[in-house]
Amino acid sequence: MKCNYHTHSTYCDGKEPMALFVRKATELQFDHLGFSSHAPIDFRNDFAIRENHIPTYIQEIEDLKLQFPSVQLFKALECDFIPGISKPFSYFKDKYYLDYIIGGVHLVGNNLMEELWFIDGSKREIYDSGLEKFFKGDIKKAVTAFWEQTFEMIEVEKFDIIAHLDKIKMHNQNRFFSEEESWYRDLVFHALSLIKKNNIIVEINSRGLYKGRCDSFYPSSFVIEKAVQMEIPFLISSDAHLSSELPLYYEEAVEELIKCGVKSLMGFHDGVWSAYDIC
Ligand SMILES: [Zn+2]
Ligand SMILES: [Zn+2]
Repeated sequence: MKCNYHTHSTYCDGKEPMALFVRKATELQFDHLGFSSHAPIDFRNDFAIRENHIPTYIQEIEDLKLQFPSVQLFKALECDFIPGISKPFSYFKDKYYLDYIIGGVHLVGNNLMEELWFIDGSKREIYDSGLEKFFKGDIKKAVTAFWEQTFEMIEVEKFDIIAHLDKIKMHNQNRFFSEEESWYRDLVFHALSLIKKNNIIVEINSRGLYKGRCDSFYPSSFVIEKAVQMEIPFLISSDAHLSSELPLYYEEAVEELIKCGVKSLMGFHDGVWSAYDIC
């Protein structure tokens, strides 16, 4: 089995139409390909799908299924969790009969969009200026806010896969905190205990590596090892925004997982997630 359940396209901030991703997936002999546009968010932005485009998005996936029968396609959204701003994830899942939902935190903060700390994207200056502006440079406070928002998402929302679990490390680049620090590890391990309790799948996301923004997968090896001990399920995601990104670091992700003791990955079959052997 070769699967990728986290894929963007021109419906959101992806750079190519869905057909190109499907063509590439068939060339690479992927068995499953799931599309996961960034879900609509109620403020002006250029990264999310517009809600009035969702029916076309769904229809296009249905049409592609007929055109490319050798790869199984899925309809999903990557929902952002912002307390007081984002809609419940179940709103999209139920209204549009989606196969699954990926949940993730990209913007840290509450209620006011003028006060959201954007921890993703290509510009580390935005991370740095938000850290100064919203947290007066207090990295522990800022990182804790990210993890607390993640905890709340896991407890409040219903979703299948948690996106790039430790994305907060991306723009840190070993400048403000170390992942070795016990306060940081306590936050990560608490997230894992909530993930376990709520039966959520952790993705090994390679985007930070192939974009050269990070020197490890999301999440880091110590997190994977801990999750293995806790019997938390995994899958591999490219989080591709270009079709050429689909295969990047796939083999390395398999190697990393095996090294950390992972024996199986999760696949979506007949509407449910089940494990298959990693190799
Ligand atoms: Zn994301
Ligand atoms: Zn994504």
